[in-house]
Amino acid sequence: MTSSVAVLRDVAALRAAVRGWREKGERVALVPTMGALHAGHASLVTEGLKRADRVVASIFVNPTQFAPTEDFSKYPRTFDADLAKLAAAGASACFAPGVEDMYPKGFCTAVGLEGPAKADLEDRFRPTHFAGVATVVAKLLNQAGADCAIFGEKDYQQLKVVAQMARDLDIATEIVGAPTVREADGLAMSSRNVYLSPDERTKAVAIFGALSTAAGRIAAGEVLGHVMADAREEIVAAGFAIDYIEARHAETLDRVARRADGPIRVLAAAKLGATRLIDNVAVPHD
Ligand code: AMP
Repeated sequence: MTSSVAVLRDVAALRAAVRGWREKGERVALVPTMGALHAGHASLVTEGLKRADRVVASIFVNPTQFAPTEDFSKYPRTFDADLAKLAAAGASACFAPGVEDMYPKGFCTAVGLEGPAKADLEDRFRPTHFAGVATVVAKLLNQAGADCAIFGEKDYQQLKVVAQMARDLDIATEIVGAPTVREADGLAMSSRNVYLSPDERTKAVAIFGALSTAAGRIAAGEVLGHVMADAREEIVAAGFAIDYIEARHAETLDRVARRADGPIRVLAAAKLGATRLIDNVAVPHD
């Protein structure tokens, strides 16, 4: 039997819980999420428990990181099931503030970003997204005051943006990246996968297939430009409309021309029908 998770509805409750754990000498990990939890999120809790005694997961569908054309209002919300998954994964608490708690009347501050946030990847297609993400994550990190916070490599550019932001703003919480959890066929788990029709779901694995093949071929020394052109073709042939598919430096996200410019990460975003999927794979290196 798993123990239950305390639901903390505002910042005062979060701070009181964290203070109580700290008084007992316990370390605390934060796992920020937007809910609709799956095994990928649970793995972040597991990672947190390797580094801390207590994990608090936040569930907040952050309106400021969605463009008006995006899926904020229909983003899946499954709070009760989420709490059960957090309990099963071993989290101690769920911080679930309301929009009015995070953005009270008169709220008017945002984090300004350059560097990895302007890599010409996600930011090309979602120009306001990372300002929303960085601002809400800065708030969550300040609110929780955790020892570490765990983010998925699934959202690779986001992980780099958050790490840079925390470094630049001297936020004391250590930012930790955790590997992408995949379905049996390789599709990266995502709360948005529920939007896929059965036919789209079958095709969806092509994005991971193409990225994995590309990563293997680059590692084997093939010409990067040819490899990426083939990967693009493979994804288009599966029925995707590509936003980007690129090989980038794994740390800076700068463009790379050859394997020696690495470590390299191959990253893609593409739409299958109305659903936009993103994924990325590391190029193995010696
Ligand atoms: P989300 O609620 O989907 O915005 O994501 C919350 C956190 O979970 C982010 O740090 C994501 O990168 C991470 N995450 C989402 N999907 C996965 C996955 N399949 N494997 C590992 N982490 C994930």
